[in-house]
Amino acid sequence: MVVYLIIALLIVIAALYIIKMGSAFGGLPVLNYHKISGGNDFDFLTVNTAELRRHFSYLNEKGYTTLFISDVLAHIEQKKPLPAKPVMITLDDGYRDNYTALYPLLKEYNIKANIFLVAGFIQSPDNKHLVPNPMGEFMQVKEALEMSKDMVEFGLHTFSHQSYSKLSLPEIATDLKKTKDRLQELGIPVQPCHAYTFGAYSQTNDDKRQALFELLQQHDVRLAFRVSNWVDKQPLQNRYFISRIHVSGLFPFWKFKVAVWGFIKIFNRFESIMK
Ligand SMILES: [Zn+2]
Repeated sequence: MVVYLIIALLIVIAALYIIKMGSAFGGLPVLNYHKISGGNDFDFLTVNTAELRRHFSYLNEKGYTTLFISDVLAHIEQKKPLPAKPVMITLDDGYRDNYTALYPLLKEYNIKANIFLVAGFIQSPDNKHLVPNPMGEFMQVKEALEMSKDMVEFGLHTFSHQSYSKLSLPEIATDLKKTKDRLQELGIPVQPCHAYTFGAYSQTNDDKRQALFELLQQHDVRLAFRVSNWVDKQPLQNRYFISRIHVSGLFPFWKFKVAVWGFIKIFNRFESIMK
């Protein structure tokens, strides 16, 4: 009996969300990954290649078209139409496994991906500007260059993974310039696009948030992503605040599908209510 009530409640909540949002259908789902493991391990930030194969197979079988940042910009700025079932694959931080484990799969499945690089984490031959970090191993310049030739576009993700919500606007301006300069010095081509570290620019002050958007614009950043576990409706309302959906390595496969459909937030909420 309780089970039926739960199911009924779930259906009602889902229906309300669909009505309220005009639904994720027709929107642009943007998936956000971090680490990809070539082995069997998985965690909140790590999806292994066995699972990733299921994700990519699903997207291909269901007729999704993966987009580059440049495709989305062409859509927004030149009104180029999006394909019928668009999806964006993004990865944050620039882990080395994005080259060793992800890149071969991108080629095999003909999937485009967008990687947001932390400029100070990239391994250059001299490692002169390397920012030490405990998070893992990060990609080498030559690996980034190889990926930039096909299947991958890059975007900005700060110089050393600072949170822009904790920096002043002048500090953010300095960081943006330093990040772009470093990537240019390394010869890595980047799109005019930024992903907020820690998922969001969480300023509660609307004026400051607006000032940040203007600052990004002044620095020729023309698209910025947060993580809200939702899908923005089309046409996109704010190009500096585009929603992404975190794909956890802990997701069972059905949850990945729910994430692509744009309803993972509902399920997450429901799960937290039930706890
Ligand atoms: Zn990050």
